[in-house]
Amino acid sequence: MLAVEGLTAAYGPVPALFGVTLAVAEGEAVALMGRNGMGKTTTIRAICRMMPSRGRLAFAGRDLHRLPSHRAARLGLGLVPEGRRCFGGLTVAENLRCVARPGPWDADAVADLFPRLGERMGQRAGTLSGGEQQMLAIGRALATNPRLLVLDEATEGLAPLVRAEIWDAVARLRGEGLAILLVDKSLKELSRVADRAVVLERGRDVWTGAMADLDGDTAARLIGV
Ligand code: ATP
Repeated sequence: MLAVEGLTAAYGPVPALFGVTLAVAEGEAVALMGRNGMGKTTTIRAICRMMPSRGRLAFAGRDLHRLPSHRAARLGLGLVPEGRRCFGGLTVAENLRCVARPGPWDADAVADLFPRLGERMGQRAGTLSGGEQQMLAIGRALATNPRLLVLDEATEGLAPLVRAEIWDAVARLRGEGLAILLVDKSLKELSRVADRAVVLERGRDVWTGAMADLDGDTAARLIGV
């Protein structure tokens, strides 16, 4: 479904990605891992066409580099960005409605996944707790009815109980067969949901394989856990 080969990207004159190769198949969950500053968020931003990049970037049989970024989103890339970025002045329901596209993920389905959001449909997103905003960011991505859900550090900075709720939801989505590409630092939780892992080091993929094959030594060396 997603095929990335030799992806390069830069911030102005400073290169950040030197050739990243990864793939996500239909119904598969892939973890993108690596230490701080190794290029995970940059890879996500390039895939979602939020910054210029070069190399092969194919999604659902289309060359994303040939499409403007809003068209890329419409092909079915549902991004949950780092830092959530909910529309604070809009209510929960409005946040979901303003991106909604036809499909099974309507407001009721999101409320079923995150009952706390269901109770707060009329509340302004800016007044939600951090965990609730993260749930809304995931709900908003789902409301676009994506073919691939892309999660960038969806549990960062959250309390353990809320993290557990988010991981349960991701596991449920995974169980329902949604393809997922996720960046996170928690090896333990990723092991629960991801089929495969791609590890980045200084803007390059240096290890790709089944999540179960990412042994402790490799993880310690490449990810620092
Ligand atoms: P983290 O786990 O800390 O979020 P990351 O693996 O997601 O790290 P990136 O944020 O993709 O890493 O950063 C990759 C490289 O690009 C780093 O060297 C970083 O300093 C640089 N970089 C990231 N964002 C910018 C920016 N807006 N302008 C300039 N350089 C940037």
